[in-house]
Amino acid sequence: MAASAKRTQQNNSWKLNRPLLIFSVLVIYIFASFIWWSYLLVSNNKHTLEQSITLLELQYEARGIASDNPLFLKAKNKLEEQYQTQVMMIIGEGAVFLILLGVAVVQIWRSYRTELQLARQQRNFLLSITHELKSPLASIKLALETMMRRELPKEKRDKIVQNTLSDTNRLQGLVGDILLAARFEDHSFRFAKDRILFSDLVEEIADKIAHNHAQHKVHTDIEQNVYLMGDKMALTSLVANLLENAAKYSPPNSRIEVALHEEREHVCLTISDQGIGIPETERQHIFKKFYRIGNEDTRETKGTGLGLFLVKEVADKHGATIKIKDNIPQGTRFDVIFPLPTTI
Ligand code: ADP
Repeated sequence: MAASAKRTQQNNSWKLNRPLLIFSVLVIYIFASFIWWSYLLVSNNKHTLEQSITLLELQYEARGIASDNPLFLKAKNKLEEQYQTQVMMIIGEGAVFLILLGVAVVQIWRSYRTELQLARQQRNFLLSITHELKSPLASIKLALETMMRRELPKEKRDKIVQNTLSDTNRLQGLVGDILLAARFEDHSFRFAKDRILFSDLVEEIADKIAHNHAQHKVHTDIEQNVYLMGDKMALTSLVANLLENAAKYSPPNSRIEVALHEEREHVCLTISDQGIGIPETERQHIFKKFYRIGNEDTRETKGTGLGLFLVKEVADKHGATIKIKDNIPQGTRFDVIFPLPTTI
């Protein structure tokens, strides 16, 4: 089984790398043949110059003019100047051609890498979304079957209902995220610009996360009566995704902090955790669609790589900026800075 998976992986990797190999051979061939033809052209011109000078010497000799005569020297100089002009032309045109070829090669290489990355991320997304949809559906089905088959004590029944509800919420959140991502693709879609009591929205989501992730200690420091202008569903997704991630990427019993404050010109939302942290080198990538740190085949946490993409898009649509910092003593801190409603 493992050997066949390895073989399939090698096959896939060969299939992906084959066009790159053909492209590299082609580029090397074009460069080499171009340099060779340029060299040949220059040396042919030199040979022609030498022959022309010999012919000139013979012609002047036949007319009895010595090779140090100014007339002869002038004619010889003219031939040499012609040769220099031709060489400069070959070098100039060659350089332009090489630069254009170089730029084209770099562009093609970049597009190829982007395509490859997109294909890998889409594969990751499909793998994770299948898993994300399959497992809550399976447990909802099992819970319903169990309740249908047997008469359960109230306590046990309530627990099953609670778990089923939380699975349904997870599915709902996932479908909501996918819908929101689809809206971002549709550039004609306009988000609502309603006056939203952001304090209540953040409080509500923090309560929900504290309830769903009882193993974490969620602390809130939320200023009352902070308003924002925006789309309620999109802002809910922003806060929920940041908080879900804080819970997902930090160990049980660790502290998650949610703070919301209105400053002179901004509304600042801070969410910090004491989790695994995000390496500096990954911070520029994590907002890309479907991007997840590490390898999908070995990763243990659930997810689709859509969360932070949505966070960034929603922040952009609301004129907000996001800052990622290291939390002290460990973990990650996200600051989302919104403009005040009057300054939007
Ligand atoms: P996912 O569905 O994988 O959680 P996200 O787009 O929400 O996708 O996040 C992208 C990646 O950024 C995650 O796979 C994870 O590796 C990293 N990440 C996001 N939030 C945190 C956090 N609070 N702590 C550590 N890593 C995080």
